[in-house]
Amino acid sequence: MPPLKNDCFALPPGVHWTPVDEALADLRTRLSCVVGDEVLPVADALDRILATDINAPRAHPPLPNTAVDGYGFLNGRGEGDHHIPLVAQHMPAGATPDASVPAGTAIRILTGAALPPGVDTVILQEDVTVEDGTIHFTGPIKQGANTRKAGEDVEAGDVVARAGRSLTPADLALLSAVGVAEVSVRRPLRVGILSTGDELVQPGDDAGPGQIYDANRPMLRGLIARLGHVPVDLGHVIDDREALRARLDLGAEQADVIFTSGGASAGDADHVSALLNEAGAMALWRVAIKPGRPLALGMWQGKPVFGLPGNPVAAMVCTLVFGAPALSLLAGADWKNPQGFMVHAGFAKTKKAGRREFLRARMREGQVEVFASEGSGRISGLSWAEGLVELPDEAMSVEQGDLVRFIPWAGFGA
Ligand code: AMP
Ligand code: MG
Repeated sequence: MPPLKNDCFALPPGVHWTPVDEALADLRTRLSCVVGDEVLPVADALDRILATDINAPRAHPPLPNTAVDGYGFLNGRGEGDHHIPLVAQHMPAGATPDASVPAGTAIRILTGAALPPGVDTVILQEDVTVEDGTIHFTGPIKQGANTRKAGEDVEAGDVVARAGRSLTPADLALLSAVGVAEVSVRRPLRVGILSTGDELVQPGDDAGPGQIYDANRPMLRGLIARLGHVPVDLGHVIDDREALRARLDLGAEQADVIFTSGGASAGDADHVSALLNEAGAMALWRVAIKPGRPLALGMWQGKPVFGLPGNPVAAMVCTLVFGAPALSLLAGADWKNPQGFMVHAGFAKTKKAGRREFLRARMREGQVEVFASEGSGRISGLSWAEGLVELPDEAMSVEQGDLVRFIPWAGFGA
């Protein structure tokens, strides 16, 4: 893998507020796969990312076969009554079609069995009566009825899955069906997660009156796992530059990419941005997004660092909107645009131009409702929500019943 360049997050000079789409386009052009690959049995490759295109070694189905239990013979038959004597053999699924079925005779054949030579049409067993070794039925039946052609699903040599695809249960079926036993997949992306801030205490600890519990780390661990990566817990550090430096060093050893929360702005206690700056590989991305604060993006010892805002609502939205597609690329997967859909608003709202807004939202009774408060400190609203409503950069006035874009958590891949 070519390493990411130290200036991979650099912004053009004079940029103040970067529109969301531009920020995404920048991430998309600058980031690439940072993990190696390994070979796995197909059955063990669920949710793993293909490292190569896969061609079908074999057609599916490999031979023409029957889609039903019934009786096979050559050619269709017209209107009226038909009587065809049966040969002695049967064709169960899996049997090798060797002997030819003589013209004017039929053969008992079971679902999935290859059509023997001399058979191109199958009548359903429910549509015939069998008497004295002869089938009796009423036409018409079309030539080719109830059969499947060789390769009608997949031809040998077809590309069945492309590099960068995250394998689904259905993909495992397809790969297996065309005779693929092993696949080359990307090694899992390890994502370090680090909380910063003097005010934070850990669950189970006593909290002083001014202290708060670390909410971001469990949330980010959950998000990273749901996005299909491996969270590496780098713990919590106080707002101390040397302590943070040591922890980032550790993170660069243990993870492929580091997500920090807190300390990412340009203030005195914002040691994440200060250290990334010192490393000469930092850009403070002021993206025109609400909720959101500056994102400190940089490189630490060759590993990309996403300095997320400390505010849990902003941290989660930034992880979904920017982190998820960025991690996809780093993991060797395709870029992923969030999959939302237009639904009727169960709320009214006016917004100004110049900033994209994400509202905590969920679907009820065919409408999307939004959380009562947009307060960015409301973690309860994140928990209440089942996705986000995305309002465009432009000014907008939403009335009850208007169409707005709803992106469920799963639409972000989370
Ligand atoms: P900062 O980005 O460090 O200025 O933090 C912004 C806000 O987020 C402050 O109110 C912090 O107390 C809060 N915050 C930072 N980190 C966390 C965390 N891990 N869990 C909950 N709140 C946090
Ligand atoms: Mg802080």
